[in-house]
Amino acid sequence: MCKEVYLDYAATTPCDPDVVKAMLPYFNDTFGNPSSLYSLGQKSKKALEGARTAIADTLSADPTEIIFTSGGSESNNMAIKGIGFGNKDKGNHIITTAIEHHSIINACRFMEKQGFKVDYIPVDRYGMVNPDDVRKAVSDNTILISVMHANNEVGTIQPVKEIAEIARARGIYMHTDAVQSFGHIPVDTNELGVNLVSISAHKLYGPRGVGALYVRKGTKIEPFIHGGGQERRRRSSTENLAGIVGLKKAVEISLKSMESEATRLCRMRDRLTEGILSKIPDTRLNGHPEKRLPGNVNISVECIEGESMVLSLDMEGVACSTGSACSSASLEPSHVLIAMGLPPEVAHGSLRFTLGRYTEDEDIDYVLDVLPGIVERLRKMSPMYKEVR
Ligand SMILES: *Cc1c(COP(=O)(O)O)cnc(C)c1O
Repeated sequence: MCKEVYLDYAATTPCDPDVVKAMLPYFNDTFGNPSSLYSLGQKSKKALEGARTAIADTLSADPTEIIFTSGGSESNNMAIKGIGFGNKDKGNHIITTAIEHHSIINACRFMEKQGFKVDYIPVDRYGMVNPDDVRKAVSDNTILISVMHANNEVGTIQPVKEIAEIARARGIYMHTDAVQSFGHIPVDTNELGVNLVSISAHKLYGPRGVGALYVRKGTKIEPFIHGGGQERRRRSSTENLAGIVGLKKAVEISLKSMESEATRLCRMRDRLTEGILSKIPDTRLNGHPEKRLPGNVNISVECIEGESMVLSLDMEGVACSTGSACSSASLEPSHVLIAMGLPPEVAHGSLRFTLGRYTEDEDIDYVLDVLPGIVERLRKMSPMYKEVR
């Protein structure tokens, strides 16, 4: 009998059944366009604004500060491009980090082609940004600092609050990509002191294709989807009401059990980490030992390709990833692990297990059972490993 163990919650999460239930009426019962004046439209409008208020509350935000989007990538693009183009009279310098999600990195690369100057701040061996490096990079031309809240590959939680203080003191907008942290650890716009925050529903048991960008009142942002003027003229297109209601429900469920769930995941996370490190020689934990997401285990296994391990684990029914999901298709080693100073051959042998709501102790036992054999078999075939031993 083959067990099925899903340990890739950072790539995406299954929709919570209660989220699906909450969404269903908005496909064919309450289907009106929220912009329509008749009652069917107004019923949709009420649901839309109710969701906006509920989500805003969880972020300590005002409902007018929430823009619904198609997900984390769009929110990130809107933050980088919207702030860049909306404030180019004030400067053309953007600061971000070397370990951001590709939706930030590639949006920044695009901005470089548009005449902006971008600094990609390096990280230490734990994948942590040093606020002093950000402080040194700031200039009179800096208009935006974007630093992710928690990294999707190695789980390191960044000093966003400290960096936001640097930004605020210089009158610079501060954005954080909270897609991996929102719903899992506290995300409060005032506590963090940020101007913009990206979130995405499918990383917290909501549907794919919906997210939001928090934009603090008074922030100058240029829209980049022009049309009928929805979302206070900041993001046109008929609202994805079912998705938005799903996001609201997902947030409610996640926040209600956030603390107990974090405790449960940390315990299983540490057991998986310690189990692998003690059972398999020449392995190491990537990311910060303490300041990391509750469900993230990222391990380097020397002298084996991550892809081979992922495929072997898949044959045993275990779903996990190497590098990040988006770059799994390419043979480039993860830009995050490289930025942390791992030699490419060690970065190539990385495995990311991300635990979540449906992970149980027996799943951890199962991985600890099958992984050592897989590594041993693959290492026997690896000429590199024989040389090292
Ligand atoms: C998944 C992810 C995104 C992209 O979100 P989508 O909704 O899939 O577009 C952005 N940033 C981080 C950190 C992520 O993990």
